[in-house]
Amino acid sequence: MKIGVPREIKNREYRVGMTPAAVQELTGHGHDILVQSGAGNAIGFSDEDYRQAGASVVDDAAEVFRASELIVKVKEPQAGERALLTPEHTLFTYLHLAPDKAQTDDLVNSGATCIAYETVTDRAGRLPLLAPMSEVAGRMSIQAGAHCLEKALGGRGVLLGGVPGVSPARVAVVGGGVVGQNAIAMAVGLGAQVTVLDRNLDVLRALDQHYGNRITTLFSTAQTLDETVTAADLVIGSVLIPGASAPKLITRDMVRRMPEGSVIVDVAIDQGGCAETSRATTHDDPVYLVDGVVHYCVANMPGAVARTSTLALNNATLPFVIALANKGPDRAMKEDPHLRAGLNVTAGKVTYREVAEATGHPY
Ligand code: NAD
Repeated sequence: MKIGVPREIKNREYRVGMTPAAVQELTGHGHDILVQSGAGNAIGFSDEDYRQAGASVVDDAAEVFRASELIVKVKEPQAGERALLTPEHTLFTYLHLAPDKAQTDDLVNSGATCIAYETVTDRAGRLPLLAPMSEVAGRMSIQAGAHCLEKALGGRGVLLGGVPGVSPARVAVVGGGVVGQNAIAMAVGLGAQVTVLDRNLDVLRALDQHYGNRITTLFSTAQTLDETVTAADLVIGSVLIPGASAPKLITRDMVRRMPEGSVIVDVAIDQGGCAETSRATTHDDPVYLVDGVVHYCVANMPGAVARTSTLALNNATLPFVIALANKGPDRAMKEDPHLRAGLNVTAGKVTYREVAEATGHPY
């Protein structure tokens, strides 16, 4: 199969759909890969790296789209890219169509088969192509929080791990899912005193079994949240109620009672944030203060570590790309209902109920 990897054109997007290692796997299966020149430059994958992996490198995106059947990307296609899609294409990328009617309309009109990373499932009902980005954001949240605790950014001037003779910082992790577990691993590794709150007892049991008395697990209620959040140096917001906006668990009143210079890293900001005082920020201007509390609310945290994020994403997408290429999209999806769950649009129709409902397309 002919597979195309265009350079990402969304503002400040440095990730790339396929790494040279992934390209080499696909060429090993006998497929032809076409990579747009410069696609991996920003994260250290040169055109020469791609050539050595067996790809052909071409200058412009139009050529990549014209010569390829399967397009592998990272971000949703921008308007100019959508204009290049035809019924012969299969597009495999993050789409996030529900809130984006303009994109949905264009994909429907293109006739292309569009498979969204974010709705591919696994046997346990999880979202395996979203998980790597949650792992990255969870680990990053502690790095970002530790930095924000320094005086220069308005923080309390507290070192997460303390030193011999000085207490470590108190870290509250609100939501013990993928982001939360990765935040906990980093915070414990740095020697912080960690409390995790969740409403799922199985999540708390698993964390308790893993960490023993190195962390405190608490069932999340208004009372436990209030006590833990107002005593914390660093709060990580990592809750998710699938398909819904994040619940506003951290109230304005709690923020007012937090110590001056304490920090909230609201990772759930991409679902609206779990603090009443949170609003989305960017990597260019990541923090602001409310009542002396530093808020870090960057909605696309993995973008800051684009190389790690690209490698993590490719690890998760590669088996699906191989299946799509080896079997062809129709057979690959017929044989794998979890890949089929990623199908959002095909042959001029929306095939994902929530997207159809949100965008007014028939289902
Ligand atoms: P997840 O489903 O793995 O975990 C969410 C956890 O929240 C679950 O364990 C759930 O039981 C818990 N929860 C639900 N209600 C709760 C409550 N009232 N109190 C305490 N816990 C509660 O989700 P995840 O993959 O860890 O993602 C968490 C959030 O981070 C999502 O909103 C996700 O979109 C976001 N995210 C943001 C970025 C970013 O760059 N900002 C990157 C990746 C993920």
